[in-house]
Amino acid sequence: MPFDTILQGGHVIDPAAERDGVFDIGILDGKIAAIEPQLDANAAREVRDVAGKIVLPGMIDTHGHIYQHVTGKFGLNPDMVGVQSGVTTVVDQGGPSCMTLPGFRAFIAQPSKTRVLCFISAYLVGGLEGHYYPELYGPDQVNVAHTVRVARENPDLVRGIKAHAEIGGASRWGLDVIKLGKEIARGAGLPLYIHLGQLWPEKEGTHIDPDELVRELVPLMDAGDVLAHPFTRHPGGFISTETGDVHPIVWAALERGVTVDVGHGSHFSFDMARQVIAAGIKPFTLGADMHGYNVKVAAADDDRTKNPFFGVAPFNLTNAMSKILHLGMALPEVVATVTANPAKMLGMEDRIGTLAVGREADVSVIEILDGNFDLSDNSGVSVTAKRMIVPSFCLRAGEFFAATSPLVPPALEKIAA
Ligand SMILES: [Zn+2]
Repeated sequence: MPFDTILQGGHVIDPAAERDGVFDIGILDGKIAAIEPQLDANAAREVRDVAGKIVLPGMIDTHGHIYQHVTGKFGLNPDMVGVQSGVTTVVDQGGPSCMTLPGFRAFIAQPSKTRVLCFISAYLVGGLEGHYYPELYGPDQVNVAHTVRVARENPDLVRGIKAHAEIGGASRWGLDVIKLGKEIARGAGLPLYIHLGQLWPEKEGTHIDPDELVRELVPLMDAGDVLAHPFTRHPGGFISTETGDVHPIVWAALERGVTVDVGHGSHFSFDMARQVIAAGIKPFTLGADMHGYNVKVAAADDDRTKNPFFGVAPFNLTNAMSKILHLGMALPEVVATVTANPAKMLGMEDRIGTLAVGREADVSVIEILDGNFDLSDNSGVSVTAKRMIVPSFCLRAGEFFAATSPLVPPALEKIAA
């Protein structure tokens, strides 16, 4: 048999390959063996009819928190965020550190069916309990040489460096930690991913001007570095609290090749997103930013409810895609934020992010439902979207996974009154 599987009759959207149309995809031994307008259905052991569905290069979530157990309640199960949600690659943002990367490899990356990568934490301890205790994240809790060494020794796993530029940290240590994070990124030859907005409360008796913070931070960033949470509902995002417009310094950064990751999480605000997109800034990558405190979990206990991120509107990667689609980005642009663009951000465009013969068969199949769907953010705004993207299944290196994760939120269709 020339093929193990044929995905038949799906609408393939693959921005990196400039492919947008109906194609059959043949898969053999975990690799893509053919992409043709039509393949002989008798030439495969198994044919999956995907007519009416959309076939994408395996989706890449640039912002996950999947260092399960080690990061306490913060870390989600990697395959629930990954293959069981139709996502073939998940990048953990800042969970593992130079000290805990071996555990991340042995207990997360290796056993997971999902392709697991990370942006290693700039801090020695990594993202324990979701950076719950700010005193663990000061400049004295960073070791540049150790982190550079571990990043360089583990290029198959470590694709960047994660640090935070937020108001609580700045009230304690200024931008010292970010500067060390930048030093690590330079030493490792990897991009720096910066969290914007608020994470910790300000130190008592201090006040940080969020606009000033952005003005000091952004010039530190180089081409390939990533600004995350541009649409944050917290102060310190792309919109100046003084002028209500996009910070001029953000434009300058984008011009020199700094990119933008949505990092949806509990930060996403429709109002901010609408304003930033209307100003002409489109996110390069998406990033769901799901973690144990911001997704619906069966047993919400006290510790969780005390967390500032608790109780957000249900979301995941495809829900975030539906939101930026609703905000006016074209479907191929939306697809690029979870395929071609993250592959570039990771420096892996030769391996993932597009469907090409000879590559590992990482393929995501989604559906676009038409109707009136309720989409909400965490600042209390909700919209009615006409189209809702839901995952159907994925193939990871040719292996089939139905999108059965409990983390996929239901498509909430509004009933006409
Ligand atoms: Zn995050």
